[in-house]
Amino acid sequence: MPHNQRSWAEPYKIKMVEPLVTMSRSERHAALQRAGYNTFLLTSSEVYIDLLTDSGTSAMSDRQWAALMLGDESYAGSRNFYHLEEAVRDIYGYEHVIPTHQGRAAEHLISTLMISRGDIVPGNMYFTTTRLHQELAGASFVDVIIDEAHDPTSEHPFKGNIDLAKLQAVIDEHGADRIPYLSLATTVNMCGGQPISMANVHAVSELVRQHGIPIVHDATRCVENAFMIRQHESGCQGRSIAEIVHEICSLTDVCTMSAKKDSLVNIGGFLAMRDDALAERARNLVVVYEGLHTYGGLAGRDMEAMAVGIRESVDLNHVAARVGQVHYLGGRLIEAGIPIVKPIGTHGVFLDARRFLPHLSTELFPAQALTAEIYLDSGVRAMERGIVSAGRDPLSGCHRRPELELVRLTIPRRVYTQAHMDVVAESIREVHQQRDSIAGLEMTFEPKFLRFFQARFRPLPETAMPAGESGRTVPEPPGRSAGSNGESMPAEPRYQPEGRST
Ligand SMILES: *Cc1c(COP(=O)(O)O)cnc(C)c1O
Repeated sequence: MPHNQRSWAEPYKIKMVEPLVTMSRSERHAALQRAGYNTFLLTSSEVYIDLLTDSGTSAMSDRQWAALMLGDESYAGSRNFYHLEEAVRDIYGYEHVIPTHQGRAAEHLISTLMISRGDIVPGNMYFTTTRLHQELAGASFVDVIIDEAHDPTSEHPFKGNIDLAKLQAVIDEHGADRIPYLSLATTVNMCGGQPISMANVHAVSELVRQHGIPIVHDATRCVENAFMIRQHESGCQGRSIAEIVHEICSLTDVCTMSAKKDSLVNIGGFLAMRDDALAERARNLVVVYEGLHTYGGLAGRDMEAMAVGIRESVDLNHVAARVGQVHYLGGRLIEAGIPIVKPIGTHGVFLDARRFLPHLSTELFPAQALTAEIYLDSGVRAMERGIVSAGRDPLSGCHRRPELELVRLTIPRRVYTQAHMDVVAESIREVHQQRDSIAGLEMTFEPKFLRFFQARFRPLPETAMPAGESGRTVPEPPGRSAGSNGESMPAEPRYQPEGRST
């Protein structure tokens, strides 16, 4: 930090506290074994500092808690819905708002409404649930993000940008008729919470418009993206976060939102759009899966808290402190020589497991193994974002092999202090010092959908690696022949989007 600048501090004070639990290393070891070396299968009471996700884990403000008391639990036309609608129109600028219980429900609805079998959906890197819903609706996803996004060492300030040449090539190859929409995410979660520039959104929107292709905007972290634009893009420095968010949204047609992130609530989301006819169809479909179009699977009180959270989220002091805390942790790790994804993103710090554990090949799930080791060391819970999260290709059934093999330390909003960040940094430094002794894992159970949530693993004996790795035999699940797809991992029958299976 330049010495003429004062320290920042959290722009709130603490009104209520929740005690943290601590366990011994041997207790954590037992917990990890029970959880199959998957931090998603730990109970929260086994965790000290929980950096699994920033989804639904924010601390609500006193105003949001007060808003819960204003819940109007009428089945139809609750006044809380109208407050939510007004907040979305004001901040995001979309005319039609359909509440959903969380983000993936909005993704489900829009994928069902807009995709036909055999369609192609280009996007700036995939997100797990977003791509799955596109595939379940019959589309294939094509990544058109810039190459720098796949390189954890590239310091490009806008690694979320779309490569216009890649996008044009997809349009040329498949034809605009087979592209129901472009899937555009503001901050790209999977490459480290990296923003897209305003200039790129403008250029992309111009290109797709020429071909009559609409944009579906995943606005889950648009506020944080807007902050990065304000920090780093020329001409945007003096602008308000709300203005920047509004401008991004104005270049897109439809929006899916997980309000569990930027919007500071523990549950909630929405689907929003400009087109009247599409909105009518969406309002009809939401009653099938979520509930009436004025509550979409949410209690009235939750919509009220969301309306307040949406407005709080664009406060510059709030978002500066939120991203500032992430950058504080990232800075401490860089100081300690830990390989992390650069530039530091907005919602978490991503450890580069390939450089952290160069002795482990991808088949040994280095990011999953590192996540387990960090938990064992300190009770800090992180999550894998690598080969396990990427899942299998629906056509070939083989593992998708993303270039990025990451461990995500995700920071919940307004929950932990700078001292907690120090403890996290100390633990990771210690694990880094002992990195040579970290062994790989083997997957013992693989669920069909979004396998990272429920997969189970066991540690390989240290002596078996890395030399013994190739000769290793893998136990087979009952009734399956190993290696049918050239892979040595036991799996459930491979996932096939409906209509694709023979
Ligand atoms: C969390 C998230 C989603 C899915 O939202 P849920 O509320 O978890 O269903 C979609 N896109 C992005 C970028 C996300 O981070």
